[in-house]
Amino acid sequence: MDFKNLGLSAELLRAIEEQGYSTPTPVQQQAIPLVLEGHDVLAGAQTGTGKTAGFMLPLMQRLAAAPAPGNKRSIRALVLTPTRELAAQVGESAEQYGKYLPLRSAVVFGGVKIGRQIETLRRGVDILVATPGRLLDHVGQRTVDLSQLEIFVLDEADRMLDMGFIHDIRKVLALIPPIEQRQSLLFSATFPKEIKQLASSLLNSPRQFQVASDKPAAERIEQQIYSMPKGLKRKVLSRLISAGDWHQVLVFTRTKHGANRLAKQLDQDGFNTAAIHGNKSQAARTRALAGFKDGNVQVLVATDIAARGIDIDQLPYVVNYELPNVPEDYVHRIGRTARAGRSGLAVSLVSPDEDKLLRDIERVLKNKVPRCEIDGMRELIAEHETMLRERPPQPESTGARPQGRKPGQRSGQGQPARADGRKRNSSRRRRPRSGEQRVAS
Ligand code: AMP
Repeated sequence: MDFKNLGLSAELLRAIEEQGYSTPTPVQQQAIPLVLEGHDVLAGAQTGTGKTAGFMLPLMQRLAAAPAPGNKRSIRALVLTPTRELAAQVGESAEQYGKYLPLRSAVVFGGVKIGRQIETLRRGVDILVATPGRLLDHVGQRTVDLSQLEIFVLDEADRMLDMGFIHDIRKVLALIPPIEQRQSLLFSATFPKEIKQLASSLLNSPRQFQVASDKPAAERIEQQIYSMPKGLKRKVLSRLISAGDWHQVLVFTRTKHGANRLAKQLDQDGFNTAAIHGNKSQAARTRALAGFKDGNVQVLVATDIAARGIDIDQLPYVVNYELPNVPEDYVHRIGRTARAGRSGLAVSLVSPDEDKLLRDIERVLKNKVPRCEIDGMRELIAEHETMLRERPPQPESTGARPQGRKPGQRSGQGQPARADGRKRNSSRRRRPRSGEQRVAS
């Protein structure tokens, strides 16, 4: 199968060739002809499968073939993404794929000043990639007009719903032309009931397909489990990074605080480390990601949502410092490596309290992940046990005992206590005004 057989124009084929793509991925083979024919599409595909080109290439071809409407403010195609990072990457792809077409694309997301985005939108944009909150801010300021929209793409729809964007999506749907007057494409890695419901209200007689998402990952990604007491994880991770000479490793923690703490410790261990999560400013996140991509940052510690959509060619190592609460997130996480046919190594450090999470993951994978041990593990455990006997244990998740909790008593899963011991501010749970605070966890 060749890109030429898919019916793409010479301008797009030239851009694809410059990207170095020789063969279309399965999602591209399926999506491109369907979108070119004007069908609505419901696609089961996750990041790493080449889905962006799967919708962006045919979408561009359709826009380029039809005359642009008169009004400069009218967006012709809208791609909604859950995270800023994914929006930036999809926007980058649009720039690259549309290089030889007279189409203008732009990206808008929160966490950065709105002024420059307004300027860009004023000049006229055909394809807009956006996170929901900032898009609605622009709608409120009348800097975008969605009433003439021709193509609507909902990317990573499952993650959108996980992040509570359903109301914002519904608001956007009310602003765009009705279902019969637009082409709609929905991409999702998983299909829980809510996604099926959303799809039925958003798509018009869609063509459906599913690319085996976790199967190629399971085949290409070498996965390893290292079992150990919680308190040894940092030491073991440092040893693995040193011994394996891992030059670029993405490490997942469950919490923002955990990410910060681990990044600090790894930095003390001599690795150039940065952390990304939702409490970091957009500028700090962009800086960390750029440093990681260009090799200045050796270890990037991230929470799930902040890492969602990170697209780094040839990222060789992914570490689950803590297992995710949701087994599907394990698949998303390890999918950061071994992208577009390459191989990768995904290592999980598992403490006894995570045994159930591991069983759930292996049930989803339909496979047992091989168990490994680092050299000297027994000695490390013996040392650790001696240390514990001589010193009362400290709660691992915070480094400080929160008020009202005795040593060793666990906090709720995924609900780490604050390091300062203050009570969690319940107002943080309220729905943010623009939705942009929910863009990253
Ligand atoms: P995506 O799933 O869209 O995030 O794409 C994942 C990665 O695959 C990106 O780095 C793309 O540049 C790359 N990619 C997309 N299509 C192809 C292709 N046909 N051949 C090789 N790499 C590709």
